[in-house]
Amino acid sequence: MWRYEAVVPTIGDAWRGLTMGEGHTPMAFLDPSEPNVRVKVEYMSPTLSFKDRGAVVLVALAADLGVERLVVDSSGNAGTAIAAYAARAGIRADVFVGASAPASKRTQIERLGAIVHPVEGTREDVAEAAIASVRSSGAFYASHVHNPLFVHGVKTYLYELWEGNGRALPDVLVLPVGNGTLVLACAIGGRELLRAGLVADLPRIIAVQSARCCPVHDAFHERAPRRATPTIADGIAISRPARLPQIVASLHESGGTTVVVDDDAVRVARAELGSVGFDVEHTAAATLAGYRAALASDPTLAERDVVIPLCGAGLKTP
Ligand SMILES: *Cc1c(COP(=O)(O)O)cnc(C)c1O
Repeated sequence: MWRYEAVVPTIGDAWRGLTMGEGHTPMAFLDPSEPNVRVKVEYMSPTLSFKDRGAVVLVALAADLGVERLVVDSSGNAGTAIAAYAARAGIRADVFVGASAPASKRTQIERLGAIVHPVEGTREDVAEAAIASVRSSGAFYASHVHNPLFVHGVKTYLYELWEGNGRALPDVLVLPVGNGTLVLACAIGGRELLRAGLVADLPRIIAVQSARCCPVHDAFHERAPRRATPTIADGIAISRPARLPQIVASLHESGGTTVVVDDDAVRVARAELGSVGFDVEHTAAATLAGYRAALASDPTLAERDVVIPLCGAGLKTP
């Protein structure tokens, strides 16, 4: 991804010592019988998810600033990615996770040398504990949600798509949305390419949420938010995304929309991906389930050039 160094904000060159070859992920047809749909295999990343694109930039900033300790709140792929780059930078990482986070995720973070702090309560309680620790210790808050540099790293996803697609963006981007880093990254990258005169239009974004936790979908359709319940697509189950208004505005700007998928559709999509050789975690299968749902309500999508990211590897969830 450092091919796009010119558009990634850094203040020094710590990234040169931290990079593990993140980005530059392959594109492939999902199935040759459906040539309008391609996948970008984001799980071929050092810690097996697209979060590496943002984590390397965030930890490079911390390293350039001479930080000795950082704090992050995520039991998922962001926590793992930040722990990995912090290890490379020789920065101590304290990772706050929900007490109910699966043991496999905790041990993955611990193997990367980070200190895991389980917190009882909601996602918000975990964030509060992390922020309290930042306040009392003066550590660097390596938040993938709040620190915009994370999104600017993730933005390389769109630049790669553009270059790999013959210097043109596809018609439709199907994207998962939890905290919205990938949606916002594609919106920012699209605006940059537009401003530079390198594309004529923004691609339409179809944002996918779980039917069990869909604040972006509800806000986009101007409905009162529903109560969230647990889903197997836990990586997109964010009940109060901090950047909700920007996410909704970006979807409108792209001429896009939202779809929701239930857990059964996610299981079916995971099996479909497996049947053509792609082993992804549940959350990462939600995007294909979302495309299938969008196609059912709008058959013209079959004539559009569509790209779906495969965000996380199958080994991440049982
Ligand atoms: C982080 C993540 C998402 C959701 O991304 P947001 O930036 O939270 O919208 C989706 N899938 C996987 C596998 C992820 O790790």
